[in-house]
Amino acid sequence: MEAGTSVGLEETPEEMMRKIDVAVGTMRAARVKIKVKPGKDVAYVAAIRARYPDLRLQVDANAAYDLFDSRHRAALKELDRYELMMIEQPGRNDDILDHARLLADLATPVCLDESILHARHARQAIECWQRYSLLCNLVINIKPPRVGGYLEAIRIARLCHNHGVPVWCGGMLESALGKACNIHFSSREEVTLPGDHISQGPYFREDVAQSLPCRDGRIELPEGIGWGLGEVRF
Ligand SMILES: [Mg+2]
Repeated sequence: MEAGTSVGLEETPEEMMRKIDVAVGTMRAARVKIKVKPGKDVAYVAAIRARYPDLRLQVDANAAYDLFDSRHRAALKELDRYELMMIEQPGRNDDILDHARLLADLATPVCLDESILHARHARQAIECWQRYSLLCNLVINIKPPRVGGYLEAIRIARLCHNHGVPVWCGGMLESALGKACNIHFSSREEVTLPGDHISQGPYFREDVAQSLPCRDGRIELPEGIGWGLGEVRF
């Protein structure tokens, strides 16, 4: 399965490019996500596009933009020029409606992350995009721990699949065991985009198991019974 990575916000585009070079050249990530915020957005994306014009690239704003501020909206509109896969959670975490209404002029799909806490929110998002935007401009990032577990995550994935809304699996479970769970979830046919499955360096000094290996931006799904991690030490 394809595996993507997330790169945090750096002080300058040059510092960020060092991590992008590792993500592309060494990790060969299937897609790269960077964090953005007002004032640290267009120049960063432009720097990546200048070096990697064909990279599958998306940005995550972690609710940093005020959708009622015309300068913030102009910056988001500017990002439209860079053929991003999506702009993730630009507006408030508790907002679904204004994401759909106020960003309908973007050609780049809007991805909801923190706004989606359960399948009801996903259904409301689908209805909002149908009414105020285009359903092809909606993406949902499903984080199983955020939505209450894998059963609800599967409900959301199925609902989105039935409406043609692409979904992918974010992080939050960063141990080897947690990542393996997310990788199994991502192998479902409803989960169509690469998730945040690989990172530059471990999150933990000690872990209970060895992470599933990633080669050339791909993780092979373990076969057989269980999570397929080999030895797990508690
Ligand atoms: Mg996010």
